[in-house]
Amino acid sequence: MKCAICRNGHTVDGRVTIVLDKEQTILVFKDVPAQVCDNCGEEYLSAKTNKELLKLANDAIKRGISLELLKYAA
Ligand SMILES: [Zn+2]
Repeated sequence: MKCAICRNGHTVDGRVTIVLDKEQTILVFKDVPAQVCDNCGEEYLSAKTNKELLKLANDAIKRGISLELLKYAA
């Protein structure tokens, strides 16, 4: 798809690192599938991926994790 940020680039399949900072918890997800703009580098996550990340984040918050590196497995 065409990038909504720079309006010049097009997005391609890629893997990105996502950092979520929620309450007292910082989570780093590696190898998250995303569409990445080939011009400005903007990252687009699918609704499904977003939901999965939030679920993992909420689990970690419940466990009282303060900092964790998670490998996202789609
Ligand atoms: Zn762009």
